[in-house]
Amino acid sequence: MSITPANFPQWINAVAATINQHADAITELDQAIGDGDHVFNLQRGIEALQLESVEIARLDWGAAWQKIGMTVMAAIGGASGSLYATMFISLHKNCQNKEISLQSFAEAFELAIEAVKQRGKSDVGEKTMLDVWVPVAKALRQDAQAGKSLSDLLQHVNAVADAGVESTRDMLATKGRASFLGERSRGHIDAGAKTAQLIISAIVANLDSMTTG
Ligand code: ADP
Ligand code: MG
Repeated sequence: MSITPANFPQWINAVAATINQHADAITELDQAIGDGDHVFNLQRGIEALQLESVEIARLDWGAAWQKIGMTVMAAIGGASGSLYATMFISLHKNCQNKEISLQSFAEAFELAIEAVKQRGKSDVGEKTMLDVWVPVAKALRQDAQAGKSLSDLLQHVNAVADAGVESTRDMLATKGRASFLGERSRGHIDAGAKTAQLIISAIVANLDSMTTG
């Protein structure tokens, strides 16, 4: 199985479908402890990516990540826009080779999540998307290094993402708008953690269908 930027249009469409399908539920989560605009921010970014997807599919990895980062940066307002743009621009810097192995992607991805931490001045345990992205990046890198089969790795990544979302429920928010609520932020899942998990599960399902044919 060869994975190339030609796959981006189908990943972008898969992500669009799941975010649109869960839009009301995401808004409910974000209204409880944020300002309720998270899903609209994401949808704006995804629609911009859909318009660019034919172009993105023609690029090499480095240029594709750059285009995705710039598109997201221009289209999404809010904290999530600059954090996702940071992730993609870091992938652009660290995925310059034509051929990218799972292991080298996993290493680049962990660096990208490090860059997001720095941009957001935050880390796991603060009730954000990082409670999903950090453990997912670690599981991906460890499984790739251990030479796990792709289907086992994908299943593991999904399970780690689910656990990450659930972990945010009882956390106290200390970053982003939810932190304004203090103790009242407890008892709600973070919207950005939920959308991170939805993005991951859409891409995992797509990759899984490619592996199993
Ligand atoms: P805004 O908070 O500016 O309205 P969004 O609603 O689009 O932006 O995104 C909110 C999500 O972004 C939160 O649910 C949280 O997961 C994530 N987030 C906010 N601030 C940070 C931060 N400093 N570090 C990591 N993630 C953050
Ligand atoms: Mg918001």
